[in-house]
Amino acid sequence: MSEDTQVQTLGDPIYELRGVSRSFGSGLNQAHVLNGISLDIAQGEFVSIVGPSGSGKSTLLNIMGMLDAPTRGSCYFMGQATHELGERQRVTIHREHIGFVFQAYHLIDEMTVYENLETPLLYRKVKSAERKSKVAEMLDRFSMVAKKDLFPEQLSGGQKQLVGIARALIIEPRVILADEPTGNLHSSQGDKIMDLLSGLNRDEGVTIVQVTHNERYTEYGHTVVELLDGSINAVSQVERARSTNPSL
Ligand code: ADP
Ligand code: MG
Repeated sequence: MSEDTQVQTLGDPIYELRGVSRSFGSGLNQAHVLNGISLDIAQGEFVSIVGPSGSGKSTLLNIMGMLDAPTRGSCYFMGQATHELGERQRVTIHREHIGFVFQAYHLIDEMTVYENLETPLLYRKVKSAERKSKVAEMLDRFSMVAKKDLFPEQLSGGQKQLVGIARALIIEPRVILADEPTGNLHSSQGDKIMDLLSGLNRDEGVTIVQVTHNERYTEYGHTVVELLDGSINAVSQVERARSTNPSL
C-alpha cells in the first residue's frame, strides 16, 4: 500500500490479512468466494471496499468482523491470530471490540430504540447503572432522546441507521465495519450517515471499514480497495479527504 497518505495519525495495524481465502460448499458445488486476500489496515484508517455485486465484499467484511472465518490464510486483529480461533472466541472478540453496521440495520423489531442500544451492553454483562448512563449518553449525542421509546418501524430509514451506528458505538469499539450503510437510504440521509462516520474517524480516530456502492462516498475515506472475483484488483489512496462538517 502507498506510504503517500495525508493522514498523520495512523497507528499500528489493526488488521493484517495474509492470503485470506474463503470457499463455500465442496466438490463440484464449491464456490471460491475469496482468493488470497492480503491487506493491512492501520488504526485510524478509513477504508472503502468497492467492487461488483458478488465480488466477495460482504464475505471479507464478515471475516474482519469475526462473523465468519477464512478457509485458508491468516487474519490478525490487533496482533492476535483470529483465523485460529473457534466460533465462541470470535463471538467474544466481536462483542468486545467490533461495531458492525448493516445495510438493513438489523435492529430488533420488538425492542424500543432504548432497548436496542442496551443490547450490546447486556451481552458484555455491563452493570445496570452503567448501561443506563451509556444509553442516555448515546441518545443525547444522537439527538434521539425523544425517540427512545419508539420501535424501529416508527423510525425513518435514516433514523434507523443512526440507531444502528449508535448501537455499534456504544461498546466503544476498536473499529466500525459498515456493510453498505447507506444502501437503503435516500441520498440526503446517506450523506448524513457518511458525515457522521467521517467525523467519528477524523475527530475520534475510530477505524472505519465500509463497503459502498456509491463512488462519491469513497471520497470520505483514505483508501479504496477494489475487489474483483474475490481478489484485490486495485488499492488506491483518496487524493484529498473530503471536507465535511459533521453535525455530530
Ligand atoms: P458482495 O458483498 O460483494 O456482493 P458476497 O461476499 O456477499 O459478495 O458474496 C460473494 C459470493 O459468495 C456470492 O456469489 C455469494 O452467493 C457467495 N456466498 C456468500 N456467502 C455464501 C454462503 N454462506 N454460502 C454459499 N455461497 C455464499
Ligand atoms: Mg454484500
